[in-house]
Amino acid sequence: MQTEFFKFDDRIKEEAARALKVCRADFDRIEETAEYNGQKVLAAFIRNGISEACLKGSTGYGYDDMGREKLDRIFAECFGAEDALVRHNFMSGTHTLVTALYGVLRPGDVMTCVTGTPYDTLQETLGLKGASSGNFVEFGIQYRQKELLPDGTPDLEAVAEAAKESRMVYIQRSRGYSLRPSLTIAQIEQIVKAAKAANPEVVVMVDNCYGEFVEKQEPCDVGADLMAGSLIKNPGGGIALTGGYIAGRHDLVEACAFRLSCPGVGREVGCTHDQLRPMYQGIFYAPTVVEAAVKTATFAASLFSGLGFGVTPEVGEYRTDIIQAVKLENAQRLCAFCKGIQKGSPVDSYVTPEPWAMPGYDSDVIMAAGAFTLGASIELSADAPLREPFAVWMQGGLTWPSGKTGVMLAAQSMLEEGLIQ
Ligand SMILES: *Cc1c(COP(=O)(O)O)cnc(C)c1O
Repeated sequence: MQTEFFKFDDRIKEEAARALKVCRADFDRIEETAEYNGQKVLAAFIRNGISEACLKGSTGYGYDDMGREKLDRIFAECFGAEDALVRHNFMSGTHTLVTALYGVLRPGDVMTCVTGTPYDTLQETLGLKGASSGNFVEFGIQYRQKELLPDGTPDLEAVAEAAKESRMVYIQRSRGYSLRPSLTIAQIEQIVKAAKAANPEVVVMVDNCYGEFVEKQEPCDVGADLMAGSLIKNPGGGIALTGGYIAGRHDLVEACAFRLSCPGVGREVGCTHDQLRPMYQGIFYAPTVVEAAVKTATFAASLFSGLGFGVTPEVGEYRTDIIQAVKLENAQRLCAFCKGIQKGSPVDSYVTPEPWAMPGYDSDVIMAAGAFTLGASIELSADAPLREPFAVWMQGGLTWPSGKTGVMLAAQSMLEEGLIQ
């Protein structure tokens, strides 16, 4: 019988065994959360009476698509929201978030992001970069920003001040590609309370990308009015082929549906082709796929901190998203790490990632991704801009065995190039 499918140096095997022991308490918590969320999703399926007919999809205008309507219900119930809009027509997380922004905001309105600079891909829409047609500036919507406090926690006084002069207070839950801590649901609740106390009319919206199912609650459970995310991240469970969701207050979700299609028509149209089955299956699997991804991230934190590198979050730290950053300190290590991750991918394992000048970045970026769905970052992947602080951001892992192996191959690749002490 074959006992070893990958060749690891003894050093890596020993470090991995030690790293795993250190993770045990974290894994217990992660498993408990996955069980809770798995039951939450199953109960929503049962409550809504999902049948074979719901999975089939529709063509043309897509009137009376029962499967589409029940999928909206399932997302709403799982995310503690009154209503949800789940569509394969959302082309990316950015498109979903921007649809929600334009669904709610009107000329003259102020939107204030209270978690510092928002995710790169939103900056053109907000008018922070470039002068693209249709951006906020052209529509007379004002963008403002409040920073987090130096320790990475929300500045609640600034939130209250912002709420008084804004139509929307905007929160980005995940760190994205920065080294600030991600915001926990408890912190999001503090922001909601501070904003609503200052201005009960303000709309609190959350970019929930990478956060779904990592905790037991979601932003709408603690009072956020609206949230949005991508189906090729957590809630698609690695099975949805494309799409996004918006969840929250009924009137706001309706307004977003009018923006996605047309005023008056809204969610009554929109055929689902053959996309309903993967979206249903995706949310059903999502809690366990997120479990695998969070275990993979925690194991990586443990292994690489054991090898002497700075990691954030650390082992034992409370997690609210699937992102793991590892400070590798130089470009060679970043490249070796990404090559190792790529070698462990189920698809395109034979490809060697190279740094390139990606549009929108001011330095070369190297990326490792060998995924079933192009660009899916719930699948094990890593990105690193080749500049200070020379950190790699990794996320995903569809299964724990493949995630763990990928992380070990990243370390092995660095060892083989003499980049580990
Ligand atoms: C991924 C992500 C987005 C944008 O999603 P895309 O699918 O890449 O357009 C926005 N915000 C955060 C925090 C994200 O992680």
